[in-house]
Amino acid sequence: MTIKKLLIANRGEIALRIHRACHEMGIATVAVHSTADADAMHVRLADEAVCIGPPPAAESYLNVANIISAAEITHADAVHPGYGFLSENAQFAEIVESHNLIWVGPKPEHIRVMGDKVEAKRTAAKLGLPLVPGSEGPVDGPEEARAVAAETGYPLIVKAASGGGGRGMKIVREEAELDSQMAQARTEAKAAFGDDTVYIEKYLGDPKHIEFQVFGDGNGAAIHLGERDCSVQRRHQKVIEEAPSPVITAEQRAHMGEVVRKAMADMGYRGAGTIEFLYENGEFFFIEMNTRLQVEHPVTEMISGIDLVREQIRVAQGDGLSVRQEDVVLHGHAIECRINAEDPETFAPSPGLVKNFVAPGGMHVRVDSGLYAGYKVPPYYDSMIAKLIVYGRDRDDCILRLKRALEEFVVEGMKTTVPLQQKIIRDPAFLDGDYTIKWLERWLEEGKK
Ligand code: ADP
Repeated sequence: MTIKKLLIANRGEIALRIHRACHEMGIATVAVHSTADADAMHVRLADEAVCIGPPPAAESYLNVANIISAAEITHADAVHPGYGFLSENAQFAEIVESHNLIWVGPKPEHIRVMGDKVEAKRTAAKLGLPLVPGSEGPVDGPEEARAVAAETGYPLIVKAASGGGGRGMKIVREEAELDSQMAQARTEAKAAFGDDTVYIEKYLGDPKHIEFQVFGDGNGAAIHLGERDCSVQRRHQKVIEEAPSPVITAEQRAHMGEVVRKAMADMGYRGAGTIEFLYENGEFFFIEMNTRLQVEHPVTEMISGIDLVREQIRVAQGDGLSVRQEDVVLHGHAIECRINAEDPETFAPSPGLVKNFVAPGGMHVRVDSGLYAGYKVPPYYDSMIAKLIVYGRDRDDCILRLKRALEEFVVEGMKTTVPLQQKIIRDPAFLDGDYTIKWLERWLEEGKK
């Protein structure tokens, strides 16, 4: 069935991103918004807009009944969830489908399996993905924990099966801490996710975060679009992402790419997905799979020339993928900087009125943002206000262009992380490309001394 009108169950830059793909495909859009977002760009550009509740996300962007009603009253025939909010909620996907709406996302059973990290690891093992050494399933009592620890060794990390967003993890340095850290992890997991199931992994000392973009048609065909290096992180949150990774060789890419492609084909996976690995001493270790579009998807679009949202829509409406693996050609280099409305030194949120906004431009420069002069950044949501994505022939060319683009970036009226990004991309460790997931935090600490 061809989608004629699509409801975007999200806000901000990703809602705009989806709107743009829809209009290029001749699909009308319905925006939904909280009362705090009535003047947002995604609402202005959409063909129709429906207010779905007050500012708190729990009452608006997570309000399933109101979102489904909005789809019904506007006669939308599909729902795209973006990232965050309801995007990895299998029950929401089922509700959408039970209302005869097309769900632009993976099969609900795959969302469910990958949303439970213990199940995800089991599935990944069956599909032949290399895992971080650790417990085979949930770990119950102290006895079992000690037995697993004896095998993996210290340090280890206790993780919540239902965890997400970098929360619900405890590092255990030595056996003496094991019982207390396990107990604490359980209590925190119960409080945060309503589920105290935990499991154990070996704690890798200083890995990189490398993830592969995958796509399936739901009928056994699948492709991979190479990797992204997302190791520049603060508090497990990504700050800069790039593709390809500066440390991965063409042979490694071809090998791991085929491993993940085959896994997705065997699973019958449908739509866009990301398989996340930690990478250390030349080895990959699966940590989780995200069953949705990622914030950092544009770097992959830049080096592949493939519009990932268009592919999502194609697959959802039964047209299949527009490319086969042999058609995928990755070329050049792309880097994304996340620009947040935050103090670049203390990271305190800095929402408020945008007095002036000038986005950089020129060849190979892309800005995904809902910002405009006169817009008021609401305090209720994520602080990311823009993504700057830059392409270059190679990494050096890309970084030169990124420097120039960041110089042009003007947001008046609030503090942003632009000055931080300018510093990071001048640091020798970033220029070398061998930075790891701990590098940025160490660098920020050193800067304070
Ligand atoms: P979440 O779903 O909360 O994002 P992940 O399992 O993806 O959790 O892990 C988030 C981040 O935590 C990783 O990118 C990495 O920085 C760190 N991390 C997770 N597992 C390990 C591990 N076994 N060893 C070292 N660091 C880890």
